[in-house]
This record gives sequence, C-alpha cells and structure tokens, in this order.
Amino acid sequence: MNTATELRNKLRSLDHKGYPAYKDLKGQYNFGDYVLSIDHVQGDPFASPSRLSVRVEKAKAGFPAKYYDTKAKRITLQDHLTRLFGRQVAGGSFQAKGSGKSGLLSVSRCGQQVLERTAMRVKDGDLTLRFEAGFPANGRTINARELEKMLFDILPDCVRRSLYYSKIDQEKLRQAICLCEDQQYIRRCLTEQNLCAFVADGSVLPRESGVSERPMKNAVAFRSPESLRITLNLPNRGPVSGMGIPQGITLFVGGGYHGKSTILQALQNGVYDHIAGDGRELVITDASAFKLRAEDGRSVTGVDISPFIKNLPNKKDTVHFSTEDASGSTSQAANLMEALESGSSLILIDEDTSATNFMVRDDLMAQVITPGEEPITPFISRVRGMYEDLGVSSIIVAGSSGAFFHRADTIIQMKEYIPIDITRKAKAAAAVYMDQGAGVAENTAAPDAADFPPFNRKRCPAPDMALRKEDRIKMKAMGTSELSLCKENVELRYLEQLKDQEQSMALAHLLKYAELKMMDGRKDLRQIGDLLEEQLDRSGLESLFERGDVSSQLARPRKQEIMACINRYRKLKI
Ligand code: ADP
Ligand code: MG
Repeated sequence: MNTATELRNKLRSLDHKGYPAYKDLKGQYNFGDYVLSIDHVQGDPFASPSRLSVRVEKAKAGFPAKYYDTKAKRITLQDHLTRLFGRQVAGGSFQAKGSGKSGLLSVSRCGQQVLERTAMRVKDGDLTLRFEAGFPANGRTINARELEKMLFDILPDCVRRSLYYSKIDQEKLRQAICLCEDQQYIRRCLTEQNLCAFVADGSVLPRESGVSERPMKNAVAFRSPESLRITLNLPNRGPVSGMGIPQGITLFVGGGYHGKSTILQALQNGVYDHIAGDGRELVITDASAFKLRAEDGRSVTGVDISPFIKNLPNKKDTVHFSTEDASGSTSQAANLMEALESGSSLILIDEDTSATNFMVRDDLMAQVITPGEEPITPFISRVRGMYEDLGVSSIIVAGSSGAFFHRADTIIQMKEYIPIDITRKAKAAAAVYMDQGAGVAENTAAPDAADFPPFNRKRCPAPDMALRKEDRIKMKAMGTSELSLCKENVELRYLEQLKDQEQSMALAHLLKYAELKMMDGRKDLRQIGDLLEEQLDRSGLESLFERGDVSSQLARPRKQEIMACINRYRKLKI
C-alpha cells in the first residue's frame, strides 16, 4: 500500500495535465487513521464523479460491539454513520473549485427509513464508507491543488468527525440503537401474539404533503380504540400502548377524508424501520406485507390468475396468463398471485387504488350476470379462504361498500382521524341486512367457506439470451418510478413500498444478476427470490459486483420488490 505522502507527490506531478491522467491515482493510500481508496476515476469533469472509499479499522473506529451484534443494529449503526458523514460532506462539498462536478463530495442521502446501503458497511467492527468526489479541473485540465485540498484538508476532517466513536455524539447514536432494539422487539411481538401490525399511541401518521415524507405538523395524534389496545414492554422505552391489529381480515371504513388511506399508508411503510422523530417509528407491520393495487398496462408473464379470473371470452389461458397490457382487474389479480409467490403473509388494499370489479360484485349484478357468464371471482369471495387456507391476512380500506362486513374479523371506523372499533355494530347491521333477504345472491354465488383453489406455483424463467450476449449492460434508475436495463424499461411506480432511488438502482443490478446468473429454466421464481435473499443476507449487495468495483449508491430492497421487479420485466420468459 502507498502512503499519503506518495499520493500527494503523485498528485502534484499531475497538475496541469489532461484530465485522463487522474486515472493514475487509482489505488490505496494509508492516511494513518484510515485507508483511502480511489476505486474508480471519472473520465472527465462533467461525467459521474469518481468513487472513493475510506476504511477505518475496528481498533481505531472504536464502536462498541453491542452496537453491531445483530443485523438490525448493524444496519442502524451504518445508517447513523452515513447520515453523520453526509452532514459533514454537505459542508465540505464544492469548497474546491473548477469546472463541471469539480469539488463535489457526496454520500447517499438517507430518508425517513433506515435502509441497508452500500455506502457504509460495518464488518466485525471495521468500517468501509463509500462516497463520490468530483476531481477538480479547469476546463479539462487537472487542477491538482484543489484535489489536494479535498483529499488532505476537507475529507480528513469529515472522516474524523463522523467515523470515530470518540468524536461523535455518543448519546444520539445510543438512542438510535435503542430505538432499533425497541422496533425489533415489536416485530417479535407481532409474531408471538399473532398480530399483523402495531401502531403506538401518540404516533403521527400523516405526512407534511404529497411530496414530503416528513411528519405533518399539528396532526391529530394516533389513539387506539380501547378494545384493540395492547401494551408492550419495550426493552428501552418501557411500556408503550397502542393498537394491535390481529391476524385475519381487518376493515377500515369511514367517511371520505377521515384518514383511512393515511393509516393504510403508514401500515405499508411499517415494513421498514423509521428514524426517531418520523412519527411512525413505532408503527410496525409484518415485514412481508404487500400493498396490492390495480396497475393497468403492466406486463404479466405466465401467472396463474385462475383463482380470480377464468373463462375469458377469447379463451385466453388464465392458468398461465400473459399479457403486454393488463386491465385493472387482471393486473390486480396478477399482483396478488405474485405477492403470494413472494411469501407475503399480509395484503394491504385501498379501494382508492383498486379495480372495483376485482374487489366486489353487488347482489343485483350477481343475479343478472350469472356466475357462468362472469369470468371474475371477486376478492371478497376469496379473502376468507386466503386467510383460512394460506394463512394470509388482509387489511382493507373500504369506505363505500358494506359488502366486506360479513367477511371481516375486525372493523374499524376512522372518524376525524381517530379509529373506533365498530366490529359488533357493523356485524349486527350486516346480520339484519342478510335476514331481510338481501345479499343472498352474492352469498350463493360465492360461498364464504370456499377453499382457496390450488394454483400453479412453478414458474421457471428461462434466461434472456440476448442480454447474456451484451458485453456492456447499461442500467439506469429514474427515482422510484422506473428503471432501465439495456434500454428495456421496467415500471416501478406502482410499487408503493419502494422508497428510495437507490433501491431502484439495486433492483436493476438484481434483475441483471438474476437474468445472467440464476435463471436456467429449472429454478422457479420462488427459489430465485430465496437464493437472492440468502445471498444478500450473507454477503450483501456488494456480492453483485465482480472485481470489487462496488457502486456506492445502492440500498437494499425487500424480496417483495425484487420479485415484483423481475415480474414486470417485459423480456421475462416463462
Ligand atoms: P380518506 O382516505 O379517509 O379519504 P385520507 O387518509 O386521504 O382520507 O386523509 C385526508 C386528509 O387528512 C389528508 O390530507 C391527510 O393528510 C389528512 N390527515 C390524515 N390523518 C390526519 C391526522 N391524524 N391529523 C391531521 N390530518 C390528517
Ligand atoms: Mg382514501
């Protein structure tokens, strides 16, 4: 390994040369307290900035082992340190001057969720931080003095103030780790107490605006209905009360604008842990939960949607259903079957974003259009079977239809943002309604007790040979709405639980990896999902890269989104 002095000398020898000469700097340099590694040098001052990493050894970093002895705590520590470093470099960025991205210093921007990122890796106490730097130039001529300032003045300060335990605000870190332990404890309680979700009293569910993930100011704080209130004794915070949503079928009803969609959104985000001050840090949902919605126009490849849709007019196969352009109902059916395939044990549905004909069919319609003529068995007729036979719970927002009253185990009315348990009242009203002879047609057409029909679980994708022949596979992510792999776009905008552009970028890498290394026509998608999950658990996103040239801007998506992304790839062959 080279010394820092050698780097300084090399750098000075490059001054005023053409920009490509910067490539000579690639390598590792010992700065005493840490090792700086120049992993990739940009081609010119306007291109994507250069990739650097800093490694601090355990003995020098000095973080207590109990802060990274579980996966969840390690991720929290990594997240916390990335944020600290981010605050430092924000001040140091563009202090060095020049053309294009000269002087830029940046690291992943962490949002409200705590995510595992390639930006920071703690392994057995050693830290690796990955970030970007714009190597300075005047025009396209190297300005070595400015890079010297960045690497020898600005960066060492940023590193020292964020990656050494003795230098940081230890109390803040302790609090982040304590919150993580409490969140993990709630997650364990969900399993032990057969709950789908927990929403702590006092939580702030609404966001500041449609484009901001920050908490709304002066919002009505969450308060659990008495009948659903449980108290959990968190290891750090002590007793915390809140609403425990039992497994089974839960319905949210209520007038428009009373907070139904808001609570559902908080629940769908509860698959992730949130930072202190978010308002949802003690809103914890079954981590496999999938937000199910209609998605007109998506492509579907070989999905068995026959539990919901059969006998299409054009005799189209619904056991291996494929389309380039799904309708509202077929897309929602495919989304559900794929969610089951990905192992989700909780499905979240909002009527606002559902296809009505997928969800329900009213009595009069069922009398006029007989079951033989109607290809769709609506979700309402399958929701109980899905729970009884497959163990998959549902939480459904349905403000405009009482039809689900018969099927639900728990019925909650949102009234001015406060939930009220109306299970008994609604069940009584539903019983009276049935006695009056209404609802009969719907019930005979689709009996409550119907088993969830068996379905094809073996979808074995064949590799995309054209992709294997490419020698340079280009990837791009547009926020959380789209990615492209070799110019083929994959729509992600309806995957509402995808939260970060870095997750989209990771999806592009994972899709490529699955296509090149895993799909062989024999492994089914579930096995591929499990294998990827195991690999990410064992070796991280870093393992998707050969030769160690790891992207510094990836965040780990859930298995649900990985499989959903593969399923939306229009070149998927099954
Ligand atoms: P619904 O789905 O019942 O029609 P929404 O969940 O869309 O209602 O909420 C309607 C509005 O009320 C939204 O603008 C939302 O931000 C706001 N809101 C939701 N919950 C609260 C709350 N607890 N305190 C204050 N405002 C809230
Ligand atoms: Mg709504």
